[in-house]
Amino acid sequence: MDYRQKDADKFKICNKLLSRGVKGSSSYHYSKNGIGSIKADMVNTGVYVSSDVVGISVNGNRKGSKLVNMAQLKKIMTAGATVVKDNSIHTARVFNTGERHVSKMLLKNNYYCQQDNKTRSVWRKFPSTIIVKTEQLTPKTARFKSERSPFGRYLFINATVKSGLKMFAPTWDMVRGVQSHKLTIQQYTAKYLTMMRESFKINHTAWLELLKFEEIKIACYCPDGKFCHRHLLAECFVQFFTKQGLNARVA
Ligand SMILES: [Zn+2]
Repeated sequence: MDYRQKDADKFKICNKLLSRGVKGSSSYHYSKNGIGSIKADMVNTGVYVSSDVVGISVNGNRKGSKLVNMAQLKKIMTAGATVVKDNSIHTARVFNTGERHVSKMLLKNNYYCQQDNKTRSVWRKFPSTIIVKTEQLTPKTARFKSERSPFGRYLFINATVKSGLKMFAPTWDMVRGVQSHKLTIQQYTAKYLTMMRESFKINHTAWLELLKFEEIKIACYCPDGKFCHRHLLAECFVQFFTKQGLNARVA
């Protein structure tokens, strides 16, 4: 297997690289020369911001092997930069002790594996603050049940019973009931909050997924300024995030 080509592919989405290795290893070579689209001056810069996508290259279990530079990895994790490393299959290979060490450090520091494919794994930090927004659906956004931005920073949720995610939607009976005034807003609210408590139990994994996003936007057909369950859902989200120890607010 051509490791140079594999690593060039792995790191082509990165703007920086953290690389250290014993002389003669590919990690050593990259630390001096870069790899693929990563030029030498993009390696081991020591300065990191949250928008950085930093590749990590480390030694496997070879003579004199070196682990990742922890001082620099700490800076990367403190900044909350995205990290790119070997995928889970390569990381699991017996030889790849350095890769496993990096995964362990990431997990210990509030990172999760956001993407794991043939080429690479991409790691992001759980945010400490989550902003929840609400908006009216447009013909364009109504086509999505949900939509996440690349690297998963933003999440859009269509919360309507007509075209959205059922786990956050009211029932048709509730929608028609409140429209025809057979159901008061108080009754609707009580029903909806009960449903969301149920949803939290039934769809627990999906609710936990919400913790990965810095910003979540909830949308419904109701015009701005009118009563709408999207505002109730936003409050449910904020309550849940706050219980998890995060800063969360409706904006
Ligand atoms: Zn609505």
